[in-house]
Amino acid sequence: MMLKFNRLLGLCFAVLAVTFSVVQYANSADTKPDFQVVMLGVGTPPPFMHRFGPATLVIAGNKYLLFDAGRGVTQRLWQDKIPLGRIDTLFLTHLHSDHVVGIPDLLLTGWLKSPFGKRKGNFHVRGPEGTTAMMGYLVKAFEGDISIRVLDQKFTREGVTPDAKDITAGVVYDEGGVKVTAIEVNHGELIKPAFGYRVDFDGRSVVISGDTKYHPALAEAAKGTDLFIHAVAAAKPELLASHKMWKTILAHHTEPEDVGRIFKQAQPKMAALYHLVTLTNGKIKPPSVADLVARVKTTYDGPITAGADRTRFIIGKDGVDVISPKK
Ligand SMILES: [Zn+2]
Ligand SMILES: [Zn+2]
Repeated sequence: MMLKFNRLLGLCFAVLAVTFSVVQYANSADTKPDFQVVMLGVGTPPPFMHRFGPATLVIAGNKYLLFDAGRGVTQRLWQDKIPLGRIDTLFLTHLHSDHVVGIPDLLLTGWLKSPFGKRKGNFHVRGPEGTTAMMGYLVKAFEGDISIRVLDQKFTREGVTPDAKDITAGVVYDEGGVKVTAIEVNHGELIKPAFGYRVDFDGRSVVISGDTKYHPALAEAAKGTDLFIHAVAAAKPELLASHKMWKTILAHHTEPEDVGRIFKQAQPKMAALYHLVTLTNGKIKPPSVADLVARVKTTYDGPITAGADRTRFIIGKDGVDVISPKK
């Protein structure tokens, strides 16, 4: 009798457990955001621990799209347990080193069969003129590693072979309900073309500026977007007076008041700052992030987020939720 009762009890628990897991699954399926953006890195060339190089992940439907691959992109992806091979396509804004130095790590480590790698198919990359050539050189540069692994571990070359294309402005990707449009921006006379990108998914959108000077055409392309992420640059007046190099750097970017003007023209549901160019020579301190935001607010009074590494944006049908990284 007791045995029967125990069996019955066991069965009840089993049924309960199955029911519970189904309910949990249904809930997580219902609530999982279908459109989100993660700032993997909001930095620039200085090798800071708190700001990795520029890289922005857009997850739309079942597509994982990466915009730029700066220093530390692989660590930031795996910090969120996203295998490097999960990236469907990498889009480059331009070929300045801070935006591309993470590519070899992403390419080669993503090729490994370990849980953090697992690329299936080629490494898809789209970017301005020079992208295809750069990817070809990278494969040549790492031929030592590649040929060893092919012989030693029997890897196939497919996962480390780039499918690279040099793009021009316009729609550059249209798959799985996700459309990516490259927008030409202005990063200076010698850095052409340079692109910003707009991602459209299910009636919602995000625009990422890339590096640019004040460029009203970008505001036009971003009009009414849900999330508008814009690069920003600033230096203290004493620094600018100290050497002309600082003015040259600043002239390739947008200062906070002009970023505010762009946001004001575009009227996004949420504006955000990334690629924080806060110049310093070590002696004269860089402007703080609070300084940047305060200056943007002199020309723009809408919602704004100062991005940090791992700031996450959930782009819902009724607005954008911002999840700040844990300290
Ligand atoms: Zn840059
Ligand atoms: Zn640049």
